[in-house]
Amino acid sequence: MSSRFWPIHEDVAEILLTQEQIAVKVAELGKQISQDYEGKDLGLICILKGASIFAADLVRHIELPISLDFMAISSYGMGTKTSGVVRILKDLDHPIQGRHILVVEDIVDTGLTLKYLLESLRSRQPASLHVCTLLDKPSRRRVEIEPDYNGFHIPDKFVVGYGLDFDERYRNLPYIGVLKPEVYQRELAGK
Ligand code: 5GP
Repeated sequence: MSSRFWPIHEDVAEILLTQEQIAVKVAELGKQISQDYEGKDLGLICILKGASIFAADLVRHIELPISLDFMAISSYGMGTKTSGVVRILKDLDHPIQGRHILVVEDIVDTGLTLKYLLESLRSRQPASLHVCTLLDKPSRRRVEIEPDYNGFHIPDKFVVGYGLDFDERYRNLPYIGVLKPEVYQRELAGK
C-alpha cells in the first residue's frame, strides 16, 4: 500500500476496514434510514469534521428529501485521549424544532461528546432525535449511550482515515486504519 506519492500509508500499522467494506455498509445504512424515515421530514446533522466524508457518502444512499446541516464540536485536543471538554465551535444554521433529526457521527468512544450534543439538541425540541455513527468502540463507554444506527463495532484502538484524523491529518485515507503508535509518540514529542 505504500507509495512515494502518498507516504501517509506508511504511518498505518493495519487496515481495519477497507474502502469496499465501508462502501457496502454505508449503502446498507442509507437503505435502512430511507425505509425508517419514509414520509417524515428528516434533517441530518453532520458533526464536523470527522463525519464529513461518511455523511457525504451516506446522504447519497438516502432516497428521501432530506436537509443537511453541520455542527462543529471540539472533543479531542492534541493527542489521542479525550479531554472531557466539549465545546460547540459551529452551531446549526437552521432550527430543528418539530423535525425528525438524525445526527451523523464518525465514532462513539467514551460517549461523552454525544451525550453533551444530544442534551443540547434535545432542548431545541425536535420531533425525534436519533444517532447514526460509522464506528463504535463500546468497550470504552463511560456514559450509557447506544447509537441507533451503527456501521461497525471496533476494538479499542486509535483509528484514522475516511474523515478521522490525528492532529488534522489522515482524513483523506480511503480506508479506516490503525496508526502506528510511533507516529503519535513522534508527533507529541515534537510539540
Ligand atoms: P467520545 O466523546 O465518544 O469519547 O469521543 C468522540 C470523538 O472523539 C469522535 O467524534 C472523534 O472525533 C474522537 N475519537 C474517538 N476515538 C477516536 C479514534 O479512534 N480516532 C480518531 N481519529 N478520533 C477518535
